Amino acid sequence: MTGGIKATPALADKLKKLGLVRADDLVLHLPLRYEDETSLLAIADAPWGEPVQVEARVVDVSVQFRPRRQLVARVHDERAGGAELTLRFLNFYGSQTKQLEAARDSGRPLRLFGEIRQGFLGPEMVHPRYRVVDADAPLPTVLTPVYPTTAGVSQAALRKLIVTALHDTDLTDHFDDAWRERFGLSAFAEAVRYLHAPPPGAPLGVLSSREHPAWRRIKFDEVLAQQLSLRRAFLARRERGAPVLAAAGALGRQLLACLPFALTGAQQRVVAEIERDLAQPFPMQRLLQGDVGSGKTIVAALAACRTIEAGWQAAFMAPTEILAEQHYLKLKAWLEPLGVRVAWLSGSLKAAAKRAMQAEAATGAHLVVGTHALIQDSVDFARLGLAIVDEQHRFGVQQRLALRKKGGGAGVDSASGKIPHQLMMSATPIPRTLAMSYYADLDVSVLDELPPGRTPVKTKLISDARRDEVIAAVRAAVAEGRQAYWVCPLIEESEKLQLQTAIETHAILSEELAGLSVGLVHGRLKADEKAATMAAFAAGKIDVLVATTVIEVGVDVPNASLMVIEHAERFGLSQLHQLRGRVGRGAHESVCVLLYAGPLSETARARLKIIFENTDGFEIARQDLHLRGPGEFIGSRQSGVPLLRYADLEADDDLVELARGEAERLLHENSAAVALHLARWLGSREELLKA
Ligand code: ADP
Ligand code: MG
Repeated sequence: MTGGIKATPALADKLKKLGLVRADDLVLHLPLRYEDETSLLAIADAPWGEPVQVEARVVDVSVQFRPRRQLVARVHDERAGGAELTLRFLNFYGSQTKQLEAARDSGRPLRLFGEIRQGFLGPEMVHPRYRVVDADAPLPTVLTPVYPTTAGVSQAALRKLIVTALHDTDLTDHFDDAWRERFGLSAFAEAVRYLHAPPPGAPLGVLSSREHPAWRRIKFDEVLAQQLSLRRAFLARRERGAPVLAAAGALGRQLLACLPFALTGAQQRVVAEIERDLAQPFPMQRLLQGDVGSGKTIVAALAACRTIEAGWQAAFMAPTEILAEQHYLKLKAWLEPLGVRVAWLSGSLKAAAKRAMQAEAATGAHLVVGTHALIQDSVDFARLGLAIVDEQHRFGVQQRLALRKKGGGAGVDSASGKIPHQLMMSATPIPRTLAMSYYADLDVSVLDELPPGRTPVKTKLISDARRDEVIAAVRAAVAEGRQAYWVCPLIEESEKLQLQTAIETHAILSEELAGLSVGLVHGRLKADEKAATMAAFAAGKIDVLVATTVIEVGVDVPNASLMVIEHAERFGLSQLHQLRGRVGRGAHESVCVLLYAGPLSETARARLKIIFENTDGFEIARQDLHLRGPGEFIGSRQSGVPLLRYADLEADDDLVELARGEAERLLHENSAAVALHLARWLGSREELLKA
């Protein structure tokens, strides 16, 4: 049975910080590395410069004051011809001095673990780990694990708790032996016992790189728990049911007939996938991934048409006001001529206007566009059939969860508990294994083709010492009738400084570009000011738009052909890719200038090189993942999905694949095993994933 941990309240608190609440958690708290204390060397024989264990008697103890206060002991080991060693402690307690003096007087030996180095007076160990032992005290028979820990929880305390937990906890396997062996997976009990206490001579290299079969089993289990939990949430939402949105498709065809372009093959394929989902009696839970500029908006609009034609409402949410408003204007222009009623709802509307819009959303509008104000409780849709979330990765996890829940609460037949279909869109393409892992609760469609006729954006890396040339290039672009963005340096630590920088940049550029119309847009402007500035830029009344990253997502002004990013070295790769995607949207040759201030750190150089050499968002994401690791990449604090502790999504992609298939099978065939496995791995943490 799985139980709690027996510990004092103070210790229990500290363990909790390590995520250790149940005995199961201790079993899965695996060592970072090992120390080999199973053998004892004579000091005379011990190699220098690597961890060794020796035993010796204290000859002399003194506190010295030069060059600084320190405890120094000399020890002697008679074995192998005899040798002396100096021990040096720069930080020490008075009790340590006493302890070593007592050992000197009693003649009890010290067992020492550390590295021998050449000291001032011959061989020495600085800060060795040591214990006073009885002569001939037995050696441990297994390697000593070193665990991740926190202040106030000693390795010894952890080891003791874990030994007890291994003894008291049910380590039964959830899989039958034949199945396990087919995939080269050890038994669970065998794997955890081995990893907590490997025998002497265990292959330390393979253990620390987590390639050992025992690790393979643990990593598989971990990924499986994640897959099970996400898939189960997916199936639970599916159980709720959704309105069947089957329509002839006349409205969509009308919209397509009005467009100046035809859908790409990829768009047609994805539209078909979505329409097939919408006609099902359970909710679509689909993520549409498509690189910047791949044309996701029209796909979403066609999905909305299907919904509206079937007699239901659609909601379209964007993470920023600027983007939401752009979508509103575009969708209105596309759809109102076809008789569709489009409403706008944002957090910054005045109270009365908002109430009117909420009423409109509740009763009349076919399509409601807005920011996350849409998921606030006061909005009650009459018949919400489809919820679209643009740039979903930009919403905080709370907002995303609210949307999924709201999806349910939002008016669709509260009696039957049905929830609307959901379409998430993201221009942060994530590599396949990462998608399989973190979006296991979504079906994924990919727009892997850009609309034709785009001229690729040319990227230039220019030192800020050559700013004059860049100013000249801006003038030249404007002289040719084009427009430019100028993105201000990012100052992450302080919003106030960020704002100040934006205003200063605008002032400086207004001088440097005297005669041109230079606008400014940043996050602290009032919504209507932002909208007015964006409208003026879209209409060509502003030549150069100085902006913070508020323009990062979605903004679409085809006549803008030059993007300058100041202090590009401060931006993340996906941000740079998104920003660069603001240009190259028209037929004109477009340029993105990355201005950097040297000297560059090694990582900054690596990042800029990636963005310079690649235009494909997937490739950039892959390299970014490689550079940063999945935790940083996905923004784990944001994602709400617990990070994998042991498995590495890149290196262990075969396990991800295997776990995915197995999760599907278990969910259908063996719910008892699912429950046991999730209890073991997630325990109370699973709540997080259910939303
Ligand atoms: P994103 O995927 O980044 O959201 P958008 O939906 O904003 O991309 O589309 C980018 C631009 O490409 C828009 O101006 C849009 O009207 C245009 N576009 C979309 N699909 C096509 C297509 N099939 N052919 C030509 N232009 C298209
Ligand atoms: Mg978009």
